[in-house]
Amino acid sequence: MLLVAGAITGQTAGAVETPVEIPFGPWLQELKAEAISRGVRKATLETALAGVQPIPRVLELDRRQPEFTLTLWRYLSRAISDARIAKGRAMLVKHKKLLDKVSAKFGVQPRFLVAFWGLESNFGQYTGTFPVLGALATLAHDQRRAKFFRAQLLAALTLIDQGNFSHRVKGSWAGAMGNHQFIPTTYQGYAYDFDGDGKRDLWTSLPDIFASAANYLSRSGWQGDKTWGREVRLPQGFDFNLSGLNTQKPLSDWQSLGIRRTDGGNLPSVDIAASVILPAGYTGPAFLIYKNYRTILVWNRSLLYAIAVGHLADRIVGGGPLQAKKPANDEPLSRADVKNMQLLLARHGHDAGTPDGVIGPKTRQAIKAYQKRAKLPADGYPNLGLIERLQGG
Ligand code: CA
Repeated sequence: MLLVAGAITGQTAGAVETPVEIPFGPWLQELKAEAISRGVRKATLETALAGVQPIPRVLELDRRQPEFTLTLWRYLSRAISDARIAKGRAMLVKHKKLLDKVSAKFGVQPRFLVAFWGLESNFGQYTGTFPVLGALATLAHDQRRAKFFRAQLLAALTLIDQGNFSHRVKGSWAGAMGNHQFIPTTYQGYAYDFDGDGKRDLWTSLPDIFASAANYLSRSGWQGDKTWGREVRLPQGFDFNLSGLNTQKPLSDWQSLGIRRTDGGNLPSVDIAASVILPAGYTGPAFLIYKNYRTILVWNRSLLYAIAVGHLADRIVGGGPLQAKKPANDEPLSRADVKNMQLLLARHGHDAGTPDGVIGPKTRQAIKAYQKRAKLPADGYPNLGLIERLQGG
């Protein structure tokens, strides 16, 4: 995944470095034995793994921790440029026939297929430059996330043995491949040979590319007759404690609570469950999100990524920019700020999990609990004001 590396493969936080116990050479021999026991042909392994060595740069990228968190606004300005919206519109027109065919079979609307495509590889322009087998072997041999990457490496070898792609295949430093940056187990489970040539080609076959994304989404619970959610207007005095993915209510309940479309209009009268999320805190835009938003989180668990997919899909079909305005002060918190805040929350009796400088569900819950007790708007959103208050009280 292009924007937030590591988002698909899991957080890099809380790294504990343990020494590598087995040298790479003998380790690789043992891995080959396991691959053979799983049915990969010996000849394939000899060719595919010849000359494969650990790649120091891959370990460096795996250990990298961003200094700052990304705010919603910063994230969206990187993910959704005018150029990307324009290109998305052009792609939607250019590939209409194929997208309609894929959509009819899998039940995923074309605008979403194009939005994922734009975010993952800039419509196929960037699919990664690392040798996938070398990158995966590096991370599988390394102790930190050995189990996960060993499974990925074995899946990649199986895919190569089955003739899906060459052992010289390139991808991200973490082994994500093709136009939708599928990790090998996702490739194995969901890639789809839509052009019927016997190969699942996520680099050059647009039928395979679109169908694979649609198949993955469809099997993760996508609802083809619904959208992802929308920006909404909250009423004065809204109880921010109702925000967050843990609270789901029927749209009619949200309507009764006074939530409206951004133009003031009523919410659709459809019987679906929705949650209110505030990805930039209570002063930023509010979104009502539906089941498809949760399915986007299966693809990539970043809340901001899921907003970006939904919003880009809307923009591609003519939707306008967000109504909420970016605040003058959109300073991101540093990792050190977040760590400090986590320690302070714990001192106030709210368990924010391991103080790792990463804002996850547990940290958001702890912030909310603190805000409630301090009679602040309980949006679960951290900022410098909150940290100052934690320090003071
Ligand atoms: Ca194919």
